Amino acid sequence: MRIANLAGRATIVTDQGLVDVASRSNGAFSTSIDKCVRNLDNLLTWFHAAQPEVTDPTTPSELYGDARLGPVVLNPQQIFAVALNYRHHAEEMKLALSKQPTIFTKFASSLCGPNDELPIPSDTTDFEAELVVVIGATARGLTLENALTAVAGYCVGQDFSDRTLQMQGAPPQYSLGKSYRNFSPIGPWLTTADEIPDPNNLSIRCNVSGDDYQDAFTSDMVFTVAEIVSYLSDVVELRPGDLIFTGSPHGSGQGQTPPRFLKPGDHVVTEIGRLGRIENRAV
Ligand code: ZN
Repeated sequence: MRIANLAGRATIVTDQGLVDVASRSNGAFSTSIDKCVRNLDNLLTWFHAAQPEVTDPTTPSELYGDARLGPVVLNPQQIFAVALNYRHHAEEMKLALSKQPTIFTKFASSLCGPNDELPIPSDTTDFEAELVVVIGATARGLTLENALTAVAGYCVGQDFSDRTLQMQGAPPQYSLGKSYRNFSPIGPWLTTADEIPDPNNLSIRCNVSGDDYQDAFTSDMVFTVAEIVSYLSDVVELRPGDLIFTGSPHGSGQGQTPPRFLKPGDHVVTEIGRLGRIENRAV
């Protein structure tokens, strides 16, 4: 099942069209995307049993670029991100791989919809295509074997980064440098985990203004999704609606010669196989 936040209403996206969750369920489920994500197992069961008719014939591909789409989680309690989690990306950044996941946060006020504009705050603003994990259960102490049971689903994300602020100071400012306004678009919808048996077998791409820069597979991750979720849960309590940005493959702007940073007018298209695509215009 795919669920979107369309014009502020939780909306199931099917190949035949859109299903407004609250109206088709006669109010059994909320209009709120956050409440639906926190109640996803029941929503999924209802959807398969009731097989509700569409409320709008708009198809998934017609939703691409739609400015009415909001983030698939509006108010997560925690947002985690993993630095240098792709082998080739670590090589291009000339940084050594670490023995455990390197975690930072993207502050929640940087979240935005999948097609929102990106205000450029600096001349070193960079793009990073990322697979985003949406947590669906309260959990601690997960093992590698059961880690994915806490995952509600996945979506496409961008970890936009101001490289200057990110690397300023010692230790550097990863969290602030990646948290300017609209630096964390996610979407276009949440695809539930039952449809993605292996999150480490997905294509991931980023195209900027017509040129392909990132084109990789999530199988290049240093730490798999299960390893990241398990590692985090040894320290913190994971909560429904939490987000994990799982790192970016090689090909970001800083890795180019000369560097290719974003400028107003650039059109950034980020796509992950089976999860869809998001589009952000720099302004
Ligand atoms: Zn990143």
